[in-house]
Amino acid sequence: MNEFPLTARVMGQIRSEFPQFELRPKAGHRLSQGIDIALKLLTFGGQSTYLTEYHTVLGTTLFLPSAWADTSDVDRAILLRHERIHLLQRRRFTPLGMALLYLLPIVPVGLAYGRARLEWEAYTETLIATAELKSLSAARCPELRRRIVGRFTGPAYGWMWPFRKTVERWYDQVIQELERRDSISMELLESES
Ligand SMILES: [Zn+2]
Repeated sequence: MNEFPLTARVMGQIRSEFPQFELRPKAGHRLSQGIDIALKLLTFGGQSTYLTEYHTVLGTTLFLPSAWADTSDVDRAILLRHERIHLLQRRRFTPLGMALLYLLPIVPVGLAYGRARLEWEAYTETLIATAELKSLSAARCPELRRRIVGRFTGPAYGWMWPFRKTVERWYDQVIQELERRDSISMELLESES
């Protein structure tokens, strides 16, 4: 595990809060394969990388896509911090409440406000973690912004919030908040020295 010190640290934190938490590959997992087929149908083929690229919490298990094997320590840590938010949400809303918020609005596809709210909270943590573990400019990177905004407006989560402007405004507000925190901590550092 020494190759992955950042990952180990986040795993330790999650296990202290959720002792049952475990990681399992999606490959060879029946339910994940069933969900993959259902998503391909519901999104007309738009979500076709569920098994290869998407991390999914079911119960207290994080199911890993095949891309996990090639994911760096820092990116694993960022992903785990995102998924930790979903575990906390599940505790907050109960598993049934989570399922209702998350799954029911998939039919009809689109405008899934419950799911969008849950993902907004989790992707805010993705940006905080990116700024902390990589850099503020990594969180500001237009490619990352395009990719995360696309998760809300595109087929990956069933077009959960297809209003690009609203999603972009949310993203930019999180970045502004991170910039504000960054400048406060810089001022603190300067006043200490
Ligand atoms: Zn998520």
